[in-house]
Amino acid sequence: MAVRAELYCYFCGHGCGEVLTPAAMRRPTPEQLRTAYATVPEGVAPVWEGTQPRCPRCGGQLFLERFEHEVVRRSARALKRAS
Ligand SMILES: [Zn+2]
Repeated sequence: MAVRAELYCYFCGHGCGEVLTPAAMRRPTPEQLRTAYATVPEGVAPVWEGTQPRCPRCGGQLFLERFEHEVVRRSARALKRAS
């Protein structure tokens, strides 16, 4: 089982695209997020400053939003929207 999550910048509104994270964890570790975002194109995916994800547009702090329910069947569209 996995849960969809997205790192989102509250400063410029950039969404880094949805990824799947392990549901068993209350909060995915930076390593898990980094692995999950490895498939997301550069410029959309977060920029990593050590273990800290940063907004690729403005360098701002990113916030993790999680989608617990199956409402989110729009990962492909979300990625297109973000690019
Ligand atoms: Zn930003």
